[in-house]
Amino acid sequence: MIRFNLICDEQHTFEAWFSSSADFEEQSARQLVSCPHCGSTAVEKALMAPSVSTSRKKEATTRLAMNTAQQAAMDQLRKAVKTIRDNSEDVGTRFPEEARKIHYGESEERGIIGQAGPDEVKALVEEGVGIAPLPDLPEDKN
Ligand SMILES: [Zn+2]
Repeated sequence: MIRFNLICDEQHTFEAWFSSSADFEEQSARQLVSCPHCGSTAVEKALMAPSVSTSRKKEATTRLAMNTAQQAAMDQLRKAVKTIRDNSEDVGTRFPEEARKIHYGESEERGIIGQAGPDEVKALVEEGVGIAPLPDLPEDKN
């Protein structure tokens, strides 16, 4: 489907959808296209170049603004992850064991980070141990 901006002989502009340019030409020739404002069937395609370039420019600006916002969000995420890391004890592969100990009060309550396999993570979650994945950010890889 193609949307055409149309104009009648009374200078009313309106939009209509056609399957192709030829479809519009045919319907127009058979006087099947009429102006919704005055009912005139003397309708032709209006020039629409200026409005197209305006909307394109707007789109590009929006996209740039979004990228900046995403950049800011990523910076915040990085800071948050750094804060978590700075305030956590890295227990490495002992993570499932330590997390369980803290959960059951066998170990001092504190923030820990470390590695756990998918099965271990599933088991911990099922036991109700509060754990969350830390986002793997590009800068954090050693
Ligand atoms: Zn009209």
